[in-house]
Amino acid sequence: MAELGSYDAIVIGSGVNGLACAALLAKAGRNVYVLERSDWFGGAIKTAEITRPGFHHDVFSAWHPLWVGGAAHARLGGDLARHGLEYLNTDHPTATLYPDGEAAFLLRTAEANAAELDRLSPGDGAAWRTMLDEFFPNADLAFGVLGTELWSRHGATLALRAYRRLGRNGTAEFGAGLLISARDWLTQTFGSERAHGLLAPWVLHTGLGPDAAASGYMAAVIAVAVQEGGMPIPRGGGARLADALVALIREQGGTCETEAEVTHVITRDGRAAGVELRNGDVIRAPIVVCNVTPTQLYGRLLGNVPPALAAQAQRFRYGRSEMQIHFALSEPAAWEGDDRLAKTAIVHLTPGLDGVSRAVNEAERGLLPAEATVVVGQPLTMDPSRAPAGKGLLWIQLQELPWQVKGDAAAEIDVADGTWTAVLRERYADRIQARLARHVTNLEQALLDRTVLSPADLERANVNLVHGDPYGGSLALDQNFLWRPLAGAPGHRTFVEGVWHVGASTHPGPGLGAGSGTIVADAILEPPVPKRLASKLTGLARR
Ligand SMILES: Cc1cc2nc3c(=O)[nH]c(=O)nc-3n(C[C@H](O)[C@H](O)[C@H](O)COP(=O)(O)OP(=O)(O)OC[C@H]3O[C@@H](n4cnc5c(N)ncnc54)[C@H](O)[C@@H]3O)c2cc1C
Repeated sequence: MAELGSYDAIVIGSGVNGLACAALLAKAGRNVYVLERSDWFGGAIKTAEITRPGFHHDVFSAWHPLWVGGAAHARLGGDLARHGLEYLNTDHPTATLYPDGEAAFLLRTAEANAAELDRLSPGDGAAWRTMLDEFFPNADLAFGVLGTELWSRHGATLALRAYRRLGRNGTAEFGAGLLISARDWLTQTFGSERAHGLLAPWVLHTGLGPDAAASGYMAAVIAVAVQEGGMPIPRGGGARLADALVALIREQGGTCETEAEVTHVITRDGRAAGVELRNGDVIRAPIVVCNVTPTQLYGRLLGNVPPALAAQAQRFRYGRSEMQIHFALSEPAAWEGDDRLAKTAIVHLTPGLDGVSRAVNEAERGLLPAEATVVVGQPLTMDPSRAPAGKGLLWIQLQELPWQVKGDAAAEIDVADGTWTAVLRERYADRIQARLARHVTNLEQALLDRTVLSPADLERANVNLVHGDPYGGSLALDQNFLWRPLAGAPGHRTFVEGVWHVGASTHPGPGLGAGSGTIVADAILEPPVPKRLASKLTGLARR
């Protein structure tokens, strides 16, 4: 065992939240130490040649609108650009392709979207404009919910702002709008099933289904965010974001290490004192930020956990499982139908709102969906450097899968004992490949290689992806917003002074926005109350 010195703050885990938190602390002059158990930085961010040399796949996450639209990017973007991070964007962020070959597109301006929706069903263009007119005046509140520590004076300030602006009934109505399901919001807002099917798949990317509470709010936020922000990706691969964050932390004097697993948070008199690593090394710090699941935090890293809290953490529920398929192609994908499909970053294959709903329901009942929502990502539409010239590369995501498989809704695949064996993984990937080949006419003939990651592979790759849940725990209402991660211990402080909880399992949940890392960095850097009062009084005296 060695004592590796004392630091201002230790960050356990180098997910986007851990890295963003560490970078913000380092920029503010804190001496930070980031410890990562895997052999890469970034957690669910990783770019690698996992099919053939020259094909650079984003193995897990790929799309960065949440990062680019988030507070951490606003504050660190300039520094990260110095460290080589460059964003590429598109005018064709997303589309839904229906089984009959028709496609609906979400584009980059209000005019283009209104025209597209009118093309599909006259009148929905006006509905789009009305939706935007209603959304924008309170966009600060809608996005504020996702960028604020809700159980804090900042959360109270946000609620007060809503009350002052909207009054009692208006605030109640705004709150109801946060809880509506996507099905109710979509069918109430747009007339055509094509419009419903354009936005419904997006709720899967927030860990929800279209019939879940709050999925309507998430669909609206995403619709606006994609129109305004597009679908940015880093040139060279998602890993460039993690690389640049690590370079910035090191430039500011911080330390980042891989293959350094923390087994225990050391406390003294109820306060954080440091961490112990698997090899017995000890690092001291009065602040420890944990980019982990509640299961690990309260079940392993912290000792003397109050029994009621330990029991709640044990009951923390994980969401649906997911699978990734990576294709390397000898030529670009040849889409049948609308020419714009070849230029679109993310194409969803689904029959529509009911199709997504059915697949989610099947997965939640333990079945392999008969007709999954297939997320087809095309990073080459923006970044040709990801593959050799003239080749094709596809990133496929399937977010409607059970962890323990009870059967196949299509009654085709023998699921054996229901665990994610290599055989089950490949059989299910074959079904998805056949679905895609109905629309991408050269898929089978151009296929050079395919690498599939099952839910079990995802869990093995990153200890935070329990059951292959990409989103750090179910986002059902009782585990979301005010109640995330645990109803009895919401927010980011823990029962140990100086130990903070960040990551997808905490508010504002999953995605690359680094919301929790930013909230916690700000809370750590916030001057204590007497200092805040003194600076307010000095400010008043100067006026
Ligand atoms: C397949 C997939 C696709 C996705 N696609 C997108 C997308 O395109 N866009 C998007 O916005 N979001 C996407 N998401 C969601 C998003 O990637 C995640 O929500 C986000 O990256 C999670 O970040 P995090 O900070 O919670 O940490 P994680 O990325 O989970 O990383 C946590 C890190 O902590 C480390 N760690 C844990 N315990 C310890 C320990 N004891 N000691 C040391 N290290 C430890 C882990 O090894 C891991 O590296 C996707 C997720 C997945 C899985």
